[in-house]
Amino acid sequence: MIVSLPCTIAEPELDRLREAVEAAGAQTRVERTAGATLLVCLGGEAPLRKVREVCWPDGAVIVPVPAQYPLAAHAPGRSGRLLLPGPVPLEVGGTDLVIAAGPCSVESLPALRSVAAAVAGSGAAMLRGGAFKPRTSPYAFTGLGAAGLEMLGQVRADTGLATVSEVMDPRQVELMLPHVDVFQVGTRNMQNFALLAELGRTRRPVLLKRGFASTVEELLMAAEHVMARGNAAVMLCERGVRAHETFTRNTLDVGAVAVLKRETHLPVLVDPSHAAGRSDLVAALSLAAVAAGCDGLLVEVHHDPPNALSDGAQSLTPAEFDDLMARVAAVARAVGRRVAQPHLRAELAA
Ligand code: PEP
Ligand code: MN
Repeated sequence: MIVSLPCTIAEPELDRLREAVEAAGAQTRVERTAGATLLVCLGGEAPLRKVREVCWPDGAVIVPVPAQYPLAAHAPGRSGRLLLPGPVPLEVGGTDLVIAAGPCSVESLPALRSVAAAVAGSGAAMLRGGAFKPRTSPYAFTGLGAAGLEMLGQVRADTGLATVSEVMDPRQVELMLPHVDVFQVGTRNMQNFALLAELGRTRRPVLLKRGFASTVEELLMAAEHVMARGNAAVMLCERGVRAHETFTRNTLDVGAVAVLKRETHLPVLVDPSHAAGRSDLVAALSLAAVAAGCDGLLVEVHHDPPNALSDGAQSLTPAEFDDLMARVAAVARAVGRRVAQPHLRAELAA
């Protein structure tokens, strides 16, 4: 439950209400939005009902939100705009779509540099690349670890691209903070609650991928785990769920994008690469995602896909990515959006 109060409410009156709600058994959070002051009650409806009878400020209105995710739920006045702290200011969840692109895994500095320059030239705003890789087989390439993070940090300094990279374990958080602008939580870790709590203690944006067998409601509750610890900077990512189909690696749930845009103010990104599992389908899924209302894409791009150390089959070449970006821009225009292109070189923008 949320109590929406006039912005003009006096502090002592807000404090009185807050104390009364807490004494009745709920935890509270105060949020100041453009049009209202919100008192968010974490702990269901009962405490509010009790308080309503004894102390109720003028103009206070109850806004019902799901009790399982009151911080992540869509509520009047809550803004989905999130400012990323990278080298160049970047807003996610506004009119502009934000595109993150790069290799599945960071493999070497020269390779990362060349892909980063290419995707920035095509209009990507963020560089993706895993240094810690969750792999189904323990004998597959598991990432360069700390050395990979250093490479991400260097390329971020060279290009101005914000970096997004997967964190698998709470013990990796400190190590990643200097190099990574967005912590990616992978599909296999969506319900790693110790990891979500640790990320909640940072103030660094989190890109939370949907578990491949999780419901949309479970995704929203996972986001709430991060937000409940104090980190409101969460972006959600639909990346395909496991179904009976075998032509695609996963089944992209386009409906989930539309549902999430209604249920939450949090930005919603889509990863067409892991949904498709094959590069020839990535463009179609990307365009569908943009048409469905996503706020950005996470696309795997590799300089030499046949020889990639992970996920080569679904990786686009830089040329294919460039072509995709032109088509994404066209669909974005059709649905009243634009692609944020903070690094696009002037001669390419013309
Ligand atoms: C990835 O982005 O490379 C990745 C491992 O994604 P997911 O967790 O969605 O499988
Ligand atoms: Mn991958």
